[in-house]
Amino acid sequence: AAKTNGRAQCHFYTSDLRTRHETNETLTAQISAGLQRGEFVPYFQPQVDGRSGALVGLEALVRWCHPERGVLTPYHFLDAARENGLLEALDEQITLAAVTALKEWRMQGLVVPQVSINISAQRLTKSMLGKELAAMVTDAGLSIDSIGLEILESAMIESGSVEMIETVRQLSNAGFKLELDDFGTGHASIANLRHFKVNRIKIDRSFIKDIHLHTDLSKITAAMIGLAHSLRIDALGEGVETPEERLILNALGVDHIQGFGVARPMPKDEVEGWIRRTQTKRVLPPRPAMTG
Ligand code: C2E
Ligand code: MG
Ligand code: MG
Ligand code: MG
Repeated sequence: AAKTNGRAQCHFYTSDLRTRHETNETLTAQISAGLQRGEFVPYFQPQVDGRSGALVGLEALVRWCHPERGVLTPYHFLDAARENGLLEALDEQITLAAVTALKEWRMQGLVVPQVSINISAQRLTKSMLGKELAAMVTDAGLSIDSIGLEILESAMIESGSVEMIETVRQLSNAGFKLELDDFGTGHASIANLRHFKVNRIKIDRSFIKDIHLHTDLSKITAAMIGLAHSLRIDALGEGVETPEERLILNALGVDHIQGFGVARPMPKDEVEGWIRRTQTKRVLPPRPAMTG
C-alpha cells in the first residue's frame, strides 16, 4: 500500500515493488521522461560540528520521485543514467534546485552555511563547468564559497587527465569549496591533495562503521585526520550512525560529521523544520553563569 508524506508528487511505497523486473531500455526511457517531468529532486542531509551539533552545511542527494515506485535512491538509477548519457542533465537539475533552495533559505533568514553538491566525473570533462556553475551561483545572488563541490577520487582516477585536473583547479580558483568524497577508498587520495586546494576530506563510511570496536580503523582514521589538518583541510566523518562512533571521532579531532545518527537525507520542507527544531537554541546567547 502507498502512503504519502503530504507532498503531492511523492508517494512512498513498500519496498517489494522494487523487485519488479525492468529492462534497461525501459528504465532509460523512464529516466528521460522523469527528467522532463521534474521528478528528480535533491534531498538534503545535514552536516554538523561533531561536538556542538551546529549545522555546517547540507549535502544535496538526488532522489527520484517515481510516479509508481515511490522515492528511489541513486542505487536504482544512477548507473543507468550514467551509461545512457543522462547523468549530466540530471546533475544540472539537481545543482540548480540545490542552489535555488539555498537562495530561498538565505532570503528566509534560515542559517545554512553551505550546500554541497556531488560532481560526477563526466561533468569534470567539461572545460566550461567552472564558468557555468559560477554564473548560476552568482545569478542566484549567492557567494561562490557557499557551495561545496564533492568530487569522488574514483572520478579523478577513471578519467584523471590533465584536463580534468585543470577543470578542478578552475573550480577552486573561482572560489568553490572542493571536497574529496569517499576519501581513503581510492588510490589517488593523497596525490589529489597536491594538485588543487582542497577544503574538506570526507572520510568514507567504511572507516567509520564500528570504529569504536576496531583499533585499526581508529588508527587509520586518526592518520587521515592528522594528514588533513597538517594541510589545513577539514575532516568530515561520513555515515555516522551511533553515539559510540561519534564519540571516537570527536576524540580523534574530526571537524564535521554526517550520518543517520545526526539526520537522514530529507526533502526540502522537512530539512527546514529540522533546522528550526535543532538549531534555534544555538543562536541564543549563553545563559549567565549561576552564582552562589
Ligand atoms: P555519497 O556522496 O558518498 O553520499 C553519501 C551516501 O551515504 C548517501 O547515499 C547517503 O544517503 C548515505 N548515508 C548517509 N548517512 C548514512 C549512514 O549513517 N549510514 C549509511 N549506511 N548510509 C548513509 P545516497 O543518497 O543513496 O547516494 C549514494 C551516492 O550517489 C552518493 O554517495 C553519491 O556518490 C551519489 N549521488 C547522490 N546524489 C547525486 C547527484 O545529485 N549527482 C551525482 N552525480 N551523484 C550523486
Ligand atoms: Mg557526496
Ligand atoms: Mg561520500
Ligand atoms: Mg561514501
